[in-house]
Amino acid sequence: MNGFDGMWGALAEVGRDRHTGGYRRDAWSEPDLALREWFAEEADRRGLSRYEDRNGNQWAWWGDPSAAPGVVTGSHLDSVRDGGAFDGPLGVVSAFAAVDELRARGVTTPPRPIGVVCFSDEEGARFGVPCVGSRLLTGVLDPARAAGLTDDAGDTLAEVLRRAGRDPSGLGRDDETLRRIGVFVELHVEQGRGLVETGAPVGVASAIWPHGRWRLDFAGRADHAGTTALADRDDPMLPYARAVLAAREIAERRGAVATFGRVRVAPGSANAIPSLVRAWLDARAPEEETVRGLVAELSAACPAEVVCESWTPVVEFDAVLRDRVAAVAGGLRGRFTGEPEILPGNVAEPSRAGGDWTEGRRDTPGGAPVLPTGAGHDAGVLAGAGVPSAMLFVRNPTGVSHSPEEFAEREDCHSGVTALTAVLEDLCGLLV
Ligand SMILES: [Zn+2]
Repeated sequence: MNGFDGMWGALAEVGRDRHTGGYRRDAWSEPDLALREWFAEEADRRGLSRYEDRNGNQWAWWGDPSAAPGVVTGSHLDSVRDGGAFDGPLGVVSAFAAVDELRARGVTTPPRPIGVVCFSDEEGARFGVPCVGSRLLTGVLDPARAAGLTDDAGDTLAEVLRRAGRDPSGLGRDDETLRRIGVFVELHVEQGRGLVETGAPVGVASAIWPHGRWRLDFAGRADHAGTTALADRDDPMLPYARAVLAAREIAERRGAVATFGRVRVAPGSANAIPSLVRAWLDARAPEEETVRGLVAELSAACPAEVVCESWTPVVEFDAVLRDRVAAVAGGLRGRFTGEPEILPGNVAEPSRAGGDWTEGRRDTPGGAPVLPTGAGHDAGVLAGAGVPSAMLFVRNPTGVSHSPEEFAEREDCHSGVTALTAVLEDLCGLLV
């Protein structure tokens, strides 16, 4: 469909680990640079005007964004380590495919400029802070702090950027670029099973749970694993292990989720008692107080130095935009199944929208399902900065994400492109 399958195929092997089958697309790594090249080529192939902003985000414009704020869509191309194929690339590939679809329908000049964006370092796999590109763009992340972030090799982001031929002195809030975004729509693979339960291939985000990352340092004393009596040891692995179990128990009790997904042990020898265990906690819940309460309780219960590395408040997407997007996306159900096309004026009629679309959660009658997510996104960062933003989710049959198992049916991906195309069309007409 409109080049979707070809683009998807072209990305399949970039940064793929032969052993795990997962993707390793750390920001500014070789695979990431190859993906940036790919983005530039796709933009050039379509004659879009492209540039990379001061924070490493890539933009491709159809129409002149300096003339009027545009309708922007896109996502990111980096991945978590051993991540899946869909988280991020689905939104970027669908964005280009939607441009193709609009052109195939005869649109030669969109009523509003349309932008395709690839945000830099969304996952934070390398430097530990997520959404670096969009946070710098909106001024949420301090540029000096960003420049000083270090990767596992001890290299700072500033050094890594210089090596990639970029200038780190330009990092920071970018009003000129921000002004060009009239509205942002990010299409993303769903990272749960909400849509499976509604029977719909495409849904719309209502909110992003508040979430954060905390670094916990458990200090001890390095010693010999064979000659040191148990009673003489100061082994930080023990309080760390207790903290892992405590986080799970507290999260269950408070209705939150908590994960230790990354840990570094020094000196890191199998035959040495550790001198330091450094672990990262990711915690999320529907309400901010719940997350903060969880971290406070865990901090009080374990002998560790706890440092908050990132915090994202709850994001409620703009309700009017959300309902509009849900109506437009949902109204296309007829096209997906070969049923009679539903006219725009009738999208709010459940009886016209097909039986299975009236089930599950519908904030807009007849519209696509509207559901919250526990995952952070660039759309959330932009929404938090006051940019009208919305998200489309494409059904994920197992709900698994951040794993090689992450999946969406090709037909559902195409439905996502169809929905995104309609939403772009609609928003181009709406903006004044
Ligand atoms: Zn993502």
